[in-house]
Amino acid sequence: MLRTHYSKDVPEREGEKIRVGGYIESVRDIGKVKFMIIRDKEGKIQITTKDEKIGEQINSMTKQSFVLVEGTVKLNKQAPGGREIVPTGIELLSKADVPLPLDPKIKSGLDKRLDWRVLDLRKPEIMAVFKIQSKLVEGMEEYLRKEKFIRVFTPCLIGTASEGGAEVFPVIYFDKEAFLRQDPQLHRELLISSGFDKIFDLGPNWRAEPSHTPRHLCEHRGCAVEVAFIKDETDTMRLEERLIVSAFKRVKNDCKEELELLEKDVKIPRTPFPELRFPDIYDILKKMGKEIEFGEDYDRESEKLLSEYVKEKYKHDFFFVNRFPFKAKPFYVMRVDENPQWARSVDLMFKGLEMSSGGQREHRYEKIIEQAKEKKLDLKNINWFTKFFRYGAPPMGGFNLGIERLTQKLLDLENIREATPFPRAPERLMP
Ligand code: ATP
Ligand code: MG
Repeated sequence: MLRTHYSKDVPEREGEKIRVGGYIESVRDIGKVKFMIIRDKEGKIQITTKDEKIGEQINSMTKQSFVLVEGTVKLNKQAPGGREIVPTGIELLSKADVPLPLDPKIKSGLDKRLDWRVLDLRKPEIMAVFKIQSKLVEGMEEYLRKEKFIRVFTPCLIGTASEGGAEVFPVIYFDKEAFLRQDPQLHRELLISSGFDKIFDLGPNWRAEPSHTPRHLCEHRGCAVEVAFIKDETDTMRLEERLIVSAFKRVKNDCKEELELLEKDVKIPRTPFPELRFPDIYDILKKMGKEIEFGEDYDRESEKLLSEYVKEKYKHDFFFVNRFPFKAKPFYVMRVDENPQWARSVDLMFKGLEMSSGGQREHRYEKIIEQAKEKKLDLKNINWFTKFFRYGAPPMGGFNLGIERLTQKLLDLENIREATPFPRAPERLMP
């Protein structure tokens, strides 16, 4: 390896020979002594020299160039981290042009930052978002593996648009048209029907929505979980809140420095999370001055109002919404048998934004067909899926939790584009 240590791991042993590599953050010349700060993934380290030749070399270096520094450790209370390196040789591996299109040390607008994302991501507070996101997912996986869930990879290319179709991206598939999945939902159900019992899929989903909102991407990732033998949709809610708690704990434990950089504190949410149900929701909203016709779906404003209501009443940032009107949900959801106007469909809300949708799925073949007919779907188009339910399927449920949205709200990021390294949005397909 070219590098022997990350900046953070430079040992406090004077005279030890080491090699570090990173981007030049600053160069300072105070006469006989020349300084350079270089930054790597873990932090920064000072390079200090009185050597004339090396000093000249340092003076000629441009900011954000990538260098490899070989030298010896020296303890110095004034240096960041209390250590510095006295170089015996500096190798310029890649020189940065001047001027920089985006200076990692200066604040810029989001569009410009995304145009020059590679430079933007060098800012420690920006990289921190992704270190935290990685731990968030690790905490989810940790919980799921402990509970003996199997990680599966379901297809991203699908033969038919499962839920209507306006929001799917078509792709050319040899001489046919195929689509990018919106959700790995139906294949998860098929794996549960295959006897997998407990599965999760971490992967991308695509939405061809031309929506320019701070909460929509055209490509986003989800932690999609499916489980068999549930008694009803409340089992999926209990599962999801434990998953969230595990994810938040992992971040709180492992990301102290990153959270400090972002000036964020992670609160481990209290369980069980509050739950609101349709049709009670109409009354709650009405009292808050919002009229929604009985039996209709709610809107974005309602989501925000209900969040205020829960915050006030339960002092909680999370809550579930359950029993959505069936007419607003896809054919595969399970309805309440005694009251089929309502579905066992559950959304999870966090700080006023939808994090996931899920609930109990219909596993009874006749009901699935009946519901598909009610939705006026062409049965031929969904037969690839429905036919399997003629040969045995357990009760099941699950959810798809948006990873960028959870990151966004956990860290109070204004725009979801900040929660993915290279966002895909209607106006952005590059870098
Ligand atoms: P919304 O109504 O807020 O647009 P949705 O109900 O269309 O969301 P679902 O189909 O329920 O979204 O998808 C499951 C989860 O995936 C959502 O709760 C959300 O966390 C995430 N998600 C869905 N669409 C997007 C998107 N366009 N960008 C980012 N995340 C998304
Ligand atoms: Mg939803």
